[in-house]
Amino acid sequence: MKVLVLNCGSSSVKYQFIDTEKAAALAKGMVERIGMSSAVLTHMPEGREKIKIVGEILDHTIAIEYVIAVLLSPNHGVIKNIKEIDAVGHRVVHGGETFSGSVLITDRVITALKDNIELAPLHNPPNIKGIEASKKHLPETPQCGVFDTAFHSKMPPKAYLYAIPYELYKKYKIRRYGFHGTSHRFVSLRAAELLGRPFEELKIITAHLGNGASMAAVDRGVSVDTSMGFTPLEGLMMGTRCGDMDPSVIVYIMGKEGLTLSEANTLMNKHSGLVGLSGDSSDMREIEESVMENDKKAKNAFDVFTYRIKKYVGAYTAAMGGLDALVFTGGIGENSVMVRNAVCENMEYLGIKLDDKLNNEAKGEAEISSADSKAKVFEIPTNEELVIAMDTAEIVNEQLSNS
Ligand code: ADP
Repeated sequence: MKVLVLNCGSSSVKYQFIDTEKAAALAKGMVERIGMSSAVLTHMPEGREKIKIVGEILDHTIAIEYVIAVLLSPNHGVIKNIKEIDAVGHRVVHGGETFSGSVLITDRVITALKDNIELAPLHNPPNIKGIEASKKHLPETPQCGVFDTAFHSKMPPKAYLYAIPYELYKKYKIRRYGFHGTSHRFVSLRAAELLGRPFEELKIITAHLGNGASMAAVDRGVSVDTSMGFTPLEGLMMGTRCGDMDPSVIVYIMGKEGLTLSEANTLMNKHSGLVGLSGDSSDMREIEESVMENDKKAKNAFDVFTYRIKKYVGAYTAAMGGLDALVFTGGIGENSVMVRNAVCENMEYLGIKLDDKLNNEAKGEAEISSADSKAKVFEIPTNEELVIAMDTAEIVNEQLSNS
C-alpha cells in the first residue's frame, strides 16, 4: 500500500510518500512558510535530485494541492495517477483521553479532535486543517489519524495524575498525557527485535532526544510512565524548554519581572533549556563545541541536560523493577557520543555499561553496550512516518477485509 503521511504544523506541512510493503519512502519533503507570499516546497524523490518550488501558498489546502501536484509531476513525481495514493496518514499531536490508538478519520473523529483543541492549542488546529484539506483533495481516499499521545494512554493513574485537587483533573482533564509516542513505540519495538525477545517480556527505557526531548518506561510493551506531561514542557531539559522545575519558580519570576501569562509561557518554552542556560545556542552540536572550548555556561547546560536523563533512567528502572534495554534516539540520541557517554557513566550498578569504541563508532542502528553489560544499550534512528504509514495501512486493510 502507498500511504501519504502528513505532519501539518501551523506554517508547515511535512510529508512522506511511503510504500508500506517495502517499508521505504518513495519521496519526502516539506512546505514551509505557509501563509507567506514566498512559501517554499522542498521535494526529495528517492534516489533523485531534490527540488525547491517557491510560490504563494496561502493555506494548508493549497499546500497539500502542491504536494499532490509534485508527487504527480512528470519530472519529479513518483506516481502517474492520484489513485495511486491508497491512503493518507496524519500525525495528530493530542488525542486527549479520547484516543488510545490510531483511527480511521470520520466526521465523529474530527468533532472529537476539535473537542481536544484546548489541550493542544498550537498543534491540533493545524493538524485538523491538514485533515480537512486532504479530505478536500482526496475525498475518496481513506484517512487515518495517528496520535503522539496514544502509546502512553495505558499509563496507570499513579503515573498520570498530578497531586492537585482531583476536581481539576475531572473538570479540565489536567493530567500527564506524554508525547513522542510514535517514536517511543517504534524504537522500543525495534529494541525488542534486536534483542530477539518478545516485546511483552521486556523492560525498556527509551530516550527520544531532539529539540524536544522525552523519555518513556516501556514495561512489557506498555508505556507505563513518560517524562512529558500535560504539555510537551515537562520532564527533560530541551533545546529551548525548561522541563521539570519547581512550579513556584515561574510564579515568582512573573511577580518579579511583571510577566504576563503569555510571556511566562514564552520564557519556559522558547528561552529556557539549552539556550537559556548557555545563553548562546539551543543546538547540541554547538553546545558540545563550546564545552570543548571550556565554555562554563555551555558546560552547565550540557551537564544539566545529561544529568536529568540519567536521573530518569534511575527512576524508570525503579518504576519497572529492572531494565533490559536503554534506547537512545532523536537527533541528539542518535548522534551525540558525548551525551550517551555522560548519561551512561557510572551506571554499572544498574547493569548499564557502554563500550566506548562501539559508542564512538556507532552509525545508524547499533548496539553500544559492552558484552558484559546486563542491560543492552542501543542507538536506534526513529522513524515516526513509517509508524504512521504502517498503522494507516493496517487500519485500511482491516476496513477492506470487513467490507
Ligand atoms: P526535532 O526535535 O526538531 O525533530 P532532531 O531530532 O532533528 O530535532 O534533533 C535536533 C538536535 O539534534 C539538535 O540539538 C542538534 O544539535 C542535535 N544533533 C544533530 N546531530 C548531532 C551530532 N552529530 N552531535 C550532537 N548533536 C547533534
